[in-house]
Amino acid sequence: MTELWRLNLTQASRGLKNRDFTVTELVGSCLDRLKATEPTVAACLAVLEERALERAKELDGQGFDESKELWGLPLTVKDVFCLKGAPTTAGSRELANYRSAYEATVVRRLKSAGAVIIAKTNCDEFAMGSSTEFSAFGPTKNPHDPQRVPGGSSGGAAASVAAGQAPGAFGTDTGGSIRQPAGLCGCVGLKPTYGRVSRYGVVAYASSLDQAGPLARTVADCGRLLGVVAGPDERDSTVSTAALPDLKNPVPWDPKDLVLGLPTQLWPSDLDPGVAKVLGEAKARLAEAKVKLVEVDLPSLKYAVAAYYILATAEASTNLARYDGVRYGFRQPEARDLLELYAATRQIGLGPEARRRILLGTFVLSSGFYEAYFRKAAQVRRLVFQDVQKALTECHFILAPASSLPAWPLGSFLDDPLTVYLMDLMTLPLNLHGGPGLSLPAGLSDGGLPVGAQLWGRTLDEEGLLSAGALLEKLWPPMPWPNL
Ligand code: GLN
Repeated sequence: MTELWRLNLTQASRGLKNRDFTVTELVGSCLDRLKATEPTVAACLAVLEERALERAKELDGQGFDESKELWGLPLTVKDVFCLKGAPTTAGSRELANYRSAYEATVVRRLKSAGAVIIAKTNCDEFAMGSSTEFSAFGPTKNPHDPQRVPGGSSGGAAASVAAGQAPGAFGTDTGGSIRQPAGLCGCVGLKPTYGRVSRYGVVAYASSLDQAGPLARTVADCGRLLGVVAGPDERDSTVSTAALPDLKNPVPWDPKDLVLGLPTQLWPSDLDPGVAKVLGEAKARLAEAKVKLVEVDLPSLKYAVAAYYILATAEASTNLARYDGVRYGFRQPEARDLLELYAATRQIGLGPEARRRILLGTFVLSSGFYEAYFRKAAQVRRLVFQDVQKALTECHFILAPASSLPAWPLGSFLDDPLTVYLMDLMTLPLNLHGGPGLSLPAGLSDGGLPVGAQLWGRTLDEEGLLSAGALLEKLWPPMPWPNL
C-alpha cells in the first residue's frame, strides 16, 4: 500500500469512500509519520494518539458517511483552539497546565464533520511572533531545512502539513500567521475574511484582527476545510451571516480574464534575491498564460506596520490582562500580597515578547498618549482599507510575496524584534483591511527553500479567491516533499 500520509485531503477522502483503506490505517500512518518526523521538526505540543485511534476505530465501525465532509480525515490544530479535556497552552508557560473545559466552535465543527484531530501544534506565545521561536516550549523547525524557522505564529501548523504529519491543519492569522508560515514551509494557507469563522474557544491575541483558517497541501483542500467551519455561531456575534458557496471544488479562473494587481510597496527593488527570482519566474508563467499583471498603489502601507503594532498590542494588553495568576494557569506561589502575586506571576509566566507587547499596548492606551497613538493608528487603518478597496477596483486580486525572506536560520533575529515586525508588512495590511487572503507555494529557491506568494481578495469573496488560487496552483511548479 502507498504511504497513506502522502495523500492530500481530497485523495484520502476518496480512498476512504472506496474502502481502499480504513480510518485506522490512515490515522495510524499519519501518527507514524508524525513520530518519525517530530524529533526533527518539533511541530506538536500535544499528540492525541490514544483518542485519535479510538475515534478512528469508532468511525470504522460506523462505516463511511457521505454527509460528513471530513469523515475519517486526520488534522492538527494550533494550540490556541480549545479542545475539551486536552491541554491548550497558546505556547505560553502561563497556560502550561491548563486543560480546556470546553470546545472551540472550529474544533466542534471539525469533529462533527468526522475529522480526527491527532495533535495540537506549536506557536509563538499567544500567537505573537513570526518564527515560532517565541513559544515557551522551544521552536518548531522548517521541514525543508531544520536549521531554519518555519515562520509563525502558526509555524507548527505549517510544519505539520509540510512534513506529512497531517494533510490539513488549522491556524490563526492576526497579521499573517497563516499565510507567512504556509509560504515558508511550502503549503497552502487561507486567511478567511474577518468574521467568516467563529473565534469562540480560540485564545485571543488582538480581537479586531484575529481570524482562524486552514492550511493544507492544495487550494481545494483549504476550501473544503473552510466550508466546514465557516458560518454563523450563536457564541460569536462577530461572525458574518453571509451565505458561503460550495468551496471544495474551486474552478480555476480563466487566465485570459484575470487581472492581478501588484502593489509597488510590496514589490520593492531590493526584495531578497532568492524570493525575487522564484516570484519572477512565477510571474512569467502567469504572463505566458495571458494573466494581466498591473501595478497598483497602496500609499498608506508606509504607516501600516506602525499602526498594526499599536492596535494589536493595545488589544493584546487588554486580552492578556486575564492571565493574572488568579483565574488561569500558572501562579507564583510565594507572593506576599495581591500586587506581588500579579507582578511575579506575569514576570515568570509570560515570555519576553508577550511582556514587550503588553508594555507597548498599555503605553499607547494610557490617557496622555491615546490620541497620539491609538486614535492615529485607527485612522491609518481606515486609510489602508480605502487604499486596498480602491486597488481592488483596478484588479480582481492583489498579488504579493508571502514573506520578504525565505525561511531564515533559527536565532537570526532574536535580538532584533523590530526587523521582524517590519517584515510583517507583506501580510498585515490585509488584516487591517479585513478581506480574505490565500498563500500558496510559487517554487523553490536555489537553496531548496519554499517561496510563497499570496492573493488578497474582496471581502467575503473566498470563492473567487480559491478559484484564482486554483489557477495559480496549476501554473506554478508543484511543491516537492522535504527530505525528512
Ligand atoms: N507576526 C505578527 C505579530 O507578531 C502576526 C502574528 C499573527 O498573525 N498571529 O503580530
